[in-house]
Amino acid sequence: MRTDNIIECPGALILGAGLAGLFTALKLAPYPATVIAGARPGHSGSSAWAQGGIAAALDEGDSWQAHARDTIAAGAGACDPAIVEMVTRDASARIADLIGFGAPFDRKLDGSLALGREAAHSAARIVHVTGDRAGAEISRVLAERAVGTPSITLCEGFHAIELAREEGRVAGVFARHGKGADSRLVLFRSAAVIFATGGIGALYAVTTNPLESRGEGLGMAARAGAAIADAEFVQFHPTAIAVGRDPAPLATEALRGEGAVLIDETGRRFMPAVHPDAELAPRDVVARAIHREIREGHRVFLDCREAIGARFPQRFPTVYAACVSAGIDPAAQPVPVAPAAHYHMGGIATDVNGRSSLEGFWAVGECASTGLHGANRLASNSLLEALVFGARVADDIRGSVAPRLHGSTLPPPRHFASAPPPTILRHTMALNLSLERNEGGIRTALATISAVERAANGEPSLLNMTAAAKLVAAAALARRESRGAHFRTDYPQADKVFIRNVLTLADAERIAASLETVHSRVARQ
Ligand SMILES: Cc1cc2nc3c(=O)[nH]c(=O)nc-3n(C[C@H](O)[C@H](O)[C@H](O)COP(=O)(O)OP(=O)(O)OC[C@H]3O[C@@H](n4cnc5c(N)ncnc54)[C@H](O)[C@@H]3O)c2cc1C
Repeated sequence: MRTDNIIECPGALILGAGLAGLFTALKLAPYPATVIAGARPGHSGSSAWAQGGIAAALDEGDSWQAHARDTIAAGAGACDPAIVEMVTRDASARIADLIGFGAPFDRKLDGSLALGREAAHSAARIVHVTGDRAGAEISRVLAERAVGTPSITLCEGFHAIELAREEGRVAGVFARHGKGADSRLVLFRSAAVIFATGGIGALYAVTTNPLESRGEGLGMAARAGAAIADAEFVQFHPTAIAVGRDPAPLATEALRGEGAVLIDETGRRFMPAVHPDAELAPRDVVARAIHREIREGHRVFLDCREAIGARFPQRFPTVYAACVSAGIDPAAQPVPVAPAAHYHMGGIATDVNGRSSLEGFWAVGECASTGLHGANRLASNSLLEALVFGARVADDIRGSVAPRLHGSTLPPPRHFASAPPPTILRHTMALNLSLERNEGGIRTALATISAVERAANGEPSLLNMTAAAKLVAAAALARRESRGAHFRTDYPQADKVFIRNVLTLADAERIAASLETVHSRVARQ
């Protein structure tokens, strides 16, 4: 590789400029950080699309203990209680950080923070911005702050394809810059690499995620040998707006928090018969109930007419605009909805400081699996996790001594094109690895993933996606129980004891090859 294509990064290298990447860079300052991303910081990833806000027990009548209880209840016995305690305790300090960076949270007339209520939260504890614009506004503020911070170097327009290794540790990231014949391969070299690459939603045919959230970070980490935890736990948002768009616009949970109800085409409310909390039941329960209604031939709608009505345009401007552009007036008409792949609880296995199983490699935000969410994420806990772990990763890296890299053993990838996820891959994920799964369907998905992988002809970007998909499928096959977001029609009960599913890509390959199952326990950090 030519030396003019090698960029030495003093300090830390962060891949991803969503909330997790930008916040980590700001918490590292004045320790140097280079942030690389495909799109413009502040406008990329799921972060800019977040509608509800961030959960934190800030009200006088609320407590971190109550927030922790709700998180654990939603997680279906799969949360790590120590991590839940740490995150819910640290929440108020991280919200204070955001306010310090300039986040314009909505406030009441007396100046205190206005707190919203969302499904499965026992109290109003969601900080939000202009109703449903939390993600866009917080991302904007953090990006502006990062641009003005001398220790942060922002590099946009780079598509990362592979981790670089040196003497048994992660030593940087290979990324493509430019398109077609003008593209070139660049090595960003750093002794501390942090992935903040977001989720995997776009591996599914129906998703609320931007199309860049296609599991490439997870795949790159897995291809380099990192341990991946609980990849089978993929959350479907119950109320994506079903107007045939890809990605599907979201109707935030906060609408149901304000009293909107789910009805079928006859006006029948079906959730009260499914769960005592009706529309405010945990996400997996609501999503599966809608899925079953649709499977039985019904159409499902979110009826906001009575609960929100004329307040809609001011209170939920993003959802309102999405509805109006599809010819629906949500103040006067029920909104057609269906579940869509939304959030990945599984991810790169990390410890309490965001360290992965590979030396020199950390993960933060949605691409990580910290043990917070268990089998089902509680609404508005994901941005919170990104903040709390972003701060911890920054502390950990600032406190460690970076080794010298020699740069002698860094073979660059042979191919460096990048392609969108193949349609056949997205369809098999949606058909066989969504709200209800069974062994036959998962085997079909594994066979299709292997076929796409063979056809990839060594192209790393595609191999990253197939690696992520294979891990979801192999972990789903290995988990012979139903828990949270993972529902197996052939194993409908939960096991008495939860065992974390920690797999390397080699484990997943073995499962795909022989369809044997692998379960391993991971020591809680
Ligand atoms: C519509 C929607 C609404 C949501 N609402 C909420 C909410 O109200 N509250 C909440 O807590 N959570 C919400 N979530 C979830 C939350 O937004 C995400 O979990 C969170 O934003 C993830 O942040 P992140 O920084 O980890 O990843 P992202 O924000 O997704 O950022 C990932 C970054 O990695 C970059 N990247 C990825 N792969 C590569 C590559 N190969 N090369 C270069 N760059 C790469 C991307 O360009 C991007 O910059 C919502 C999600 C969606 C989709």
